[in-house]
Amino acid sequence: MDRADAILLLITRTVQQMTLPDKVRMISGDFFVADLESMSEAEAQRAIDTVVEEYGLDGVEEQIISMGVREYETWRNEYLQECLLKSGLKIDGEVSGQPRLAPICPCCKYRSLPEDPLFHICSVCFWEYEGNLEPDHFSAINGMTLKEAIANFDIYGAKDRKSSINADLLDPDAKRKYVRLSEE
Ligand SMILES: [Zn+2]
Repeated sequence: MDRADAILLLITRTVQQMTLPDKVRMISGDFFVADLESMSEAEAQRAIDTVVEEYGLDGVEEQIISMGVREYETWRNEYLQECLLKSGLKIDGEVSGQPRLAPICPCCKYRSLPEDPLFHICSVCFWEYEGNLEPDHFSAINGMTLKEAIANFDIYGAKDRKSSINADLLDPDAKRKYVRLSEE
């Protein structure tokens, strides 16, 4: 089965399983989610209605599908296959084809970053990308130099021990999801 077909099958199933508030949250971004959580139920409902009115239900789903496709395109074939099987979707042979090459995290060297990576936190190692790739530059956001983070990654599998033991911070699947530079 070609990757493109596998990706479409998977994102379609994911959208089917999402609730409307989840869909609205996903396309509206983090700030909206934070606002939604501080609102009363009636206010939150009104905010959701506003987004649905603006995009239309089909428009909301189309946006999620295009965002999902963009992300899944960077996943390994093996991980896509694993997700399809977990979702109970039958696949025709093994998933094949080449993942899209996403930007590389300077700490863990996985291709885990979005196209516009500035201030994105890597889901593999928790390094926050701030654009500075100088190993000895002290990164205030990360509280350490890149060189220290790379050394920590070899030991803890994350930019520091704290991140490695805080399961909420890291995506447990991230290392299976993305391609690592050394494997290319
Ligand atoms: Zn990383």
